[in-house]
Amino acid sequence: MAELFIVKGLRLERSQTHKKCVVKSIIQHTVFLFLTLSFAIASAVLGADKVRHYYTVTTDEALDVLDVNACFEGNPPAKLVAESLDAVVALRGVWNVQTGEEITPSGFIPMDGIASGGCVRFVVDISQGVQRHDMTGLKVHRIGKDVAVASGLWLWRPEFIRANEEIHVRFELPQDITISTPWHREGSERGHFVLANTPYDWPSWIMLGRFPDQVALVGNTHFYVSVLDGRPPVDREFLLEWISKEAGMVQSVIGKFAYPHVQVTMVPNARARTPAPQAYVTRGGGPAVHLMINQRRPQEEFIADWTATHELSHLFLPFINPDDAWLYEGVASYYQNVIRARFGLMSQEEAWENMALGFRRGFLQAKGQEISLREATQLMYMGDPHERVYWTGAAMMLHADIDLRKNTANEWSLDRVLREFNQCCNSDLRGWSAAEVLQTFDKISQTTIFSSLMNRYVDSTEFPDVLPLYEDLGLQYIDRKVTLDNKAPLSDLRDRIMAGDKEVQHEAKLFRD
Ligand SMILES: [Zn+2]
Repeated sequence: MAELFIVKGLRLERSQTHKKCVVKSIIQHTVFLFLTLSFAIASAVLGADKVRHYYTVTTDEALDVLDVNACFEGNPPAKLVAESLDAVVALRGVWNVQTGEEITPSGFIPMDGIASGGCVRFVVDISQGVQRHDMTGLKVHRIGKDVAVASGLWLWRPEFIRANEEIHVRFELPQDITISTPWHREGSERGHFVLANTPYDWPSWIMLGRFPDQVALVGNTHFYVSVLDGRPPVDREFLLEWISKEAGMVQSVIGKFAYPHVQVTMVPNARARTPAPQAYVTRGGGPAVHLMINQRRPQEEFIADWTATHELSHLFLPFINPDDAWLYEGVASYYQNVIRARFGLMSQEEAWENMALGFRRGFLQAKGQEISLREATQLMYMGDPHERVYWTGAAMMLHADIDLRKNTANEWSLDRVLREFNQCCNSDLRGWSAAEVLQTFDKISQTTIFSSLMNRYVDSTEFPDVLPLYEDLGLQYIDRKVTLDNKAPLSDLRDRIMAGDKEVQHEAKLFRD
């Protein structure tokens, strides 16, 4: 039984009931949606011409190997591929199950000898991280008694999953072992998943170990939270509550997250002075938020930290080409301050101060670099500083938010554009470009605000000028401190950005009380 938290109006309700009872209470709140979903699921399940492939995965008590039996309905694919260049290095062997013959992989697993309806078995060494050809970091991490494995190291799969195909993955694990994946959980059977049809080369992680299977339901989204083994021990109850509240706060911007489930992993033992020194989002197989945490830090520091707010804000957008990172990092950097001010975790003044400091760092970097935003974004992934990329994006979002609100008396806002985008258009099964996302934003808001901002800044060395905006908003910034001038022309709009719409204000009030 999974431990379950339900976030309703940001009050956490701990449920010790069986999952069925919880589902019942969800139905009461979302009858229509639930019915719609049920029909969708039912018709998908009943889809007569679905072709199903079945992977069965076993492991040992020490979690040193993954032993996979992959059976294909109908003709098997011509080859199986894995995302990491080191997947071949980690292979202990591949066999044709029907004939017992060993198969020699060569960058991929050739399937020409496998008969229709046949199976292939492969065994993968996950006892330690290898790094021979793949220089993007270790693909296996041992964390105390638990292990994190990049799916790209072990998951040999067809390069493309056709629309009528489903890959079911069943983990048959020792009783005390829990599995965490970003994939859709099929039925109530433990360890049964269906792969999302995301490109095979999008990274993702699975976690195996002796941690509890924790779930938080935020709106309609299940957050599957796994907190791995730590020394000193981790306070899993606190961490689940912390991330659930963060997800609830972030969700308030757009009403409901577009994704039915999100994998959250927390890897303890990080050596740092901050509670969450590193974090990132992956999209392979479905969205996932990964946090490296330092469990030695006090709870107040977790609550005061912006990292989770930032990472969860990435869920407003689909997977976007990393060459356009300025867009998704800009959105997350803007909202990490706006959201935390709305929920009283910092004052409005502090939020504007943090942004002013960020804009200043970005501006100084842009001045020193003398390259375009596009070039700076590409260089960031080669180790160049990130402030210019993040804060140019955030400054563009501030410009857009003000323009939208100013022209429509707060009727339109960046919140609303993101909310409508998540209702109509957000799809995590393919990659988007920034241009495509911003054109969609323009269509939604019936403006050209977003494309114009992109056209103006993406190939420019210039950092967006925020000083006149701060002036109009009535923000006096002296000695790193902001004071509010309520006589400024846009002071109402300023207060509204940091308070949010009525629904957000209502949720924030519940949160603070
Ligand atoms: Zn980010």
